[in-house]
Amino acid sequence: MKIFLDGKLCNERDAKVSVFDHGLLYGDGIFEGIRAYNGRVFKLKEHIDRLFYSAKAILLEIPLTHAELMQATVDTIRANKLRDGYIRLVVTRGVGNLGLNPRSCKKPSIIIIAGKIQIYPTEMYLRGMDIVTVPTVRNLHSALNPAIKSLNYLNNILAKIEANNAGVEEAIMLNSDGFVAECTADNIFIIKNGAVFTPPLSAGALYGVTRQTVIELAEQSGIKVSEPNLTRYDLFNADECFVTGTGAEIMPVVKIDGRVIGNGKPGSTTTKLIAEYKALTQVAGTPIYK
Ligand code: PMP
Repeated sequence: MKIFLDGKLCNERDAKVSVFDHGLLYGDGIFEGIRAYNGRVFKLKEHIDRLFYSAKAILLEIPLTHAELMQATVDTIRANKLRDGYIRLVVTRGVGNLGLNPRSCKKPSIIIIAGKIQIYPTEMYLRGMDIVTVPTVRNLHSALNPAIKSLNYLNNILAKIEANNAGVEEAIMLNSDGFVAECTADNIFIIKNGAVFTPPLSAGALYGVTRQTVIELAEQSGIKVSEPNLTRYDLFNADECFVTGTGAEIMPVVKIDGRVIGNGKPGSTTTKLIAEYKALTQVAGTPIYK
């Protein structure tokens, strides 16, 4: 596997970063997870835009331009001869001293890994997923804004461990006001009386690229979409529920905290959105090979 590391494509065994990198010492950095389908990078511009917004929020100067980073991503996928895959793009604060002050870090590091991912088993997409609400509350936006896709994912990891302990794959995280924020690595949607609802970003959700794509697909089909604060009660009484993410794509949810959602099977609107999303990923995106 060829890895992009600070401007060069190197072999996997040579792709090493310093133990003094503040990305490792403090989780000081940002990342993106991107997908390639059928020889195209899906929503590349949107992911690079979000990376730059995250960088802005943590005062990190990415040493490449927007266009250069898009090109580096495509080059890395091409170097690995992939047509379908998952790309992890990481920018760390770089090498510094043992103190947390980022002023000691002179040069951020850029890492691009192009590989494969399968987050959930295939049959789960047909049957639907069982999820639970967990005690760990989503980060306050006034502390560490969940809109920043930072290398500091402990908030989400703790919730994921709680999901594991409950014997399920994904967790619903509430914010400090008790409203639904999102899942540990996915945004959440419900459908009620033919309309689509998803929590607002201000509730503590990441501005998900898949979330936005699903909103657009729903609106193109004439389905009303809104972003009100949602409670667990709203989720329990939904007709359908699903989660979205670059890795997970669209996963139907059929049980929440022991309450069966709708008829306990992936709903018709969810199934339609899954088909539309799949079709879009096959034709849209930045070409990898000319
Ligand atoms: N929320 C969180 C916390 C995430 O890490 C992710 C990315 N896996 C998402 C939502 C979904 O975002 P996207 O659709 O851009 O992958």
